[in-house]
Amino acid sequence: MNYFSKADSSFTDALFKAGLLIPTEVAGLAARSGQFEAIVSGLDAMITRLGQDIGAETVRFPPAMTRVSFEKTGYMRGFPQLAGSIHCFCGDEKAHCALLTCIAEGRDWSQLLAPAESVLTPAACYPLYPIIAARGSLSPDGATVDVASWCFRHEPSIDPARMQMFRMREYVRIGSPQQVLAFRQQWLERVPDIAGQLGIHASVDLANDPFFGRAGQLKADSQREQNLKFEMLAQAGDQPKPTACMSFNYHQELFGTMCGIRQWNGEVAHTGCVGFGMERLALALFYQHGLQSSAWPASTRAALAL
Ligand code: ATP
Ligand code: ZN
Ligand code: MG
Repeated sequence: MNYFSKADSSFTDALFKAGLLIPTEVAGLAARSGQFEAIVSGLDAMITRLGQDIGAETVRFPPAMTRVSFEKTGYMRGFPQLAGSIHCFCGDEKAHCALLTCIAEGRDWSQLLAPAESVLTPAACYPLYPIIAARGSLSPDGATVDVASWCFRHEPSIDPARMQMFRMREYVRIGSPQQVLAFRQQWLERVPDIAGQLGIHASVDLANDPFFGRAGQLKADSQREQNLKFEMLAQAGDQPKPTACMSFNYHQELFGTMCGIRQWNGEVAHTGCVGFGMERLALALFYQHGLQSSAWPASTRAALAL
């Protein structure tokens, strides 16, 4: 039994039948085929090309971040329902016996684990803010960083575009409000070129994050009222609505305050990021051009160096 048998659409069905994604017994934890990965690699190189003129520092993260940094970013305030924490076995031999017995009897053995010093990274820019803060005040130019990470979000779904582990590439801008807003605007204006190079239909719309609980609705409303989040939407499956394949976020002083990032003049830094969902972009390409990448338009293949 795997979630393939519960496929929510004919496109999902076809993706699995073609072997582009290989399902497991957990929704949102599929393996990727060589053809799928070739598209992700092509996108990765294209994103590097798109950002060549912004002079970003490159930083790559492992898929986990420190628990201390994670606490600083305040993720648990907004999105406790999506977080994933790493727990490990730290017991003695007696505890090991108890653990094996528990597993053999099919009982819950997680109680016998202890929290590790790390958690799973929820977004590629999160591990960056404490690192920038630790460097001291920014220069007058602020900071521009190209980050990437595997990300985890506990949102099991049979929609292949809503994975539990996926890759995110981001360009992050840290500095004054003007610097961050200009940067976000510059990337919003690049959407027609990005969609054009890929040969996909896409649009931009105002968005909000899925904040937790009753207070979350107020946060989401305020995020929309202040135009803090935009998304590039593209059809990436049979869902009635197009899927967010990129996001353009202005966090104002949130991470600057939480993590202690200062501008050159001592004021709290503002931050913003432009995120690319690697798997969702690949799915949009497969949905809009077909499951055989060898048959895609020549210009799309050229953009992805296929
Ligand atoms: P959604 O609104 O669909 O939940 P999001 O707004 O929460 O997505 P962001 O936090 O802005 O997403 O993350 C940046 C990008 O990462 C998104 O634009 C998307 O392309 C990708 N992404 C987010 N969640 C997932 C997921 N569960 N599976 C695959 N890609 C994802
Ligand atoms: Zn980000
Ligand atoms: Mg969204």
